[in-house]
Amino acid sequence: MLSLYVHIPFCRERCLYCDFFLVTRVDHVGHFFEALAEETRAKAELIRGKKIDAIHFGGGTPSLVPVSFISGWLEQIEGIAHIAPDAEITLEANPEDLDIRKLEELRAAGINRLSIGVQSFVDRKLRALGRAHSAEDSVRTVSQAMERFNSVSIDLMCGAEGEDEGEWEADLQIALRLRPPHVSVYMLTLEQKTRLWRDVGKGRIVLPGEEEQAAMYECARQRLTAGGFRHYEVSNYALEGHHSRYNLSSWMREPYVGFGPSAHSFMVTDDRQTRFSNALSLMGYLADPAGAVDFSEVLGAEQRFDEEVFLSLRIKRGLPVEFLRNGRAPGSPGLDAELGGLLEKGWISIDDGLVTLTESGFLFADLVAAGLIHG
Ligand code: SF4
Repeated sequence: MLSLYVHIPFCRERCLYCDFFLVTRVDHVGHFFEALAEETRAKAELIRGKKIDAIHFGGGTPSLVPVSFISGWLEQIEGIAHIAPDAEITLEANPEDLDIRKLEELRAAGINRLSIGVQSFVDRKLRALGRAHSAEDSVRTVSQAMERFNSVSIDLMCGAEGEDEGEWEADLQIALRLRPPHVSVYMLTLEQKTRLWRDVGKGRIVLPGEEEQAAMYECARQRLTAGGFRHYEVSNYALEGHHSRYNLSSWMREPYVGFGPSAHSFMVTDDRQTRFSNALSLMGYLADPAGAVDFSEVLGAEQRFDEEVFLSLRIKRGLPVEFLRNGRAPGSPGLDAELGGLLEKGWISIDDGLVTLTESGFLFADLVAAGLIHG
């Protein structure tokens, strides 16, 4: 399976908690798409004649740009590669950008899955997160999108300033009532140099503590799984047949080619796996769309092992105990003791020699992976 990712780095304003690579100057949009076309021509040999199974427009806010730019780029790809008739083509969108006309334009352009940055259905909480839309926008947009798209995903966030379990329950109840077929649940994390980080550092804002966040995460898991959603990845829940194919393929370490500033690519050939990333600079990208590279590396055996453990755990893909034993660095403390400790905590299960995270272990996925890799 081969996927494409496009990073569209524009937002009207930066949300309080966000540290993604983006700019708030939207006057560069036209120039950006000229650069994107040039980068696509330069990378054509990576995808020429191949079948593309998933395309993901991420950002930033892809719903901010005129739809003609999106359809123009998809036409360019169709001239180079073969977009599978059943390919998943997802666009990340914010509620304030979507009205009926825009939704229909997006569908006509070939987008068949929308990932909507709802974050909350509660006005107070949206303000605390610095979001530009209202609770009413959230509900209206999800309803209108579901009438027009077979697959709709929403992002929900817990752990905002002043949020308690009651408010979080309200978000979950509205999500369950609207019932989009895919829900991503994120815990608010404090990223360095964001406005939120500075406000917390100065004591102006106090966020819910780790235990409260963990309780909200568990509450989401209980409500969504009881509502028929499958918890298929640490942060992701889907109704049958609605998991994100693009995300799942990257967690399964299948190849993808990224376009746009900061976009990553992962290429696999018979004898090597390579990761590379475009530069984190819009001006650098506009000046040299094909050459502004941040890093490029061929993965060694140790990196492949680390990635396999880390990513397989997130999607509950069983890891053979023998694979772990053979892959750990010589001299790592005993694997059996590590597995015993994790079993005792209830964070993993082992069936037929396969190690899988339990539901309670999901919350500690990174810690479990580090223990299995290094001991
Ligand atoms: S809309 Fe999304 S990408 Fe843009 S600033 Fe907010 S969180 Fe970040």
